[in-house]
Amino acid sequence: MNALVISLISVGRKGLAVDVAVPGPDLALEDGLELGLGEVRVRGSLDAIDTEYLFRGHITGAYAGPCDRCLTECAAPFDYEVAWLFEEAEARREVAGAAGGDDVEIDAADDDRMFVFEGNELNLAVPVWEELVLQAPSKHLCRDDCRGLCAHCGADLNQGPCGCKRRNNGDGNKGLSSLADLFPDLRPSSPEE
Ligand SMILES: [Zn+2]
Ligand SMILES: [Zn+2]
Repeated sequence: MNALVISLISVGRKGLAVDVAVPGPDLALEDGLELGLGEVRVRGSLDAIDTEYLFRGHITGAYAGPCDRCLTECAAPFDYEVAWLFEEAEARREVAGAAGGDDVEIDAADDDRMFVFEGNELNLAVPVWEELVLQAPSKHLCRDDCRGLCAHCGADLNQGPCGCKRRNNGDGNKGLSSLADLFPDLRPSSPEE
């Protein structure tokens, strides 16, 4: 049973307060897309506006997993402010037909993200998942200036210099240092003293 499925009968005149926490993996609507989510909390209020429903609130949680650079397990917390408009599928078709175009849809969807529901239920899991996928950071880092691992010895450079650089400048491994010339991005980023 999905806790994010809201029965519209429970939405009163003053709206419905929503505060639901779901395990991240339960939200995944697409197979194979792993966001490394822990618990995701959805808080806000759902209000009826004529035949439509407006949800305004926050999605909070954290993306978790190994840092892209140093592989340390870390979590990147998020707090997204959201506003979604839900329109009944049948009403939407009628309005679009009567207006003879899509003017109506465009001005309603200007600021709010728009979704469609059918029957007496509305599923918040769809926009929640969409939001999380859209906003997922392209890089998962333990901190913005993570120094990553030494390309030669694998030492975590956040703990301090590993000493490889000095050795490689001497009679160290020529093969590896010429490889480093081909991939300058992989060089340790600390400036030479
Ligand atoms: Zn890191
Ligand atoms: Zn090293």
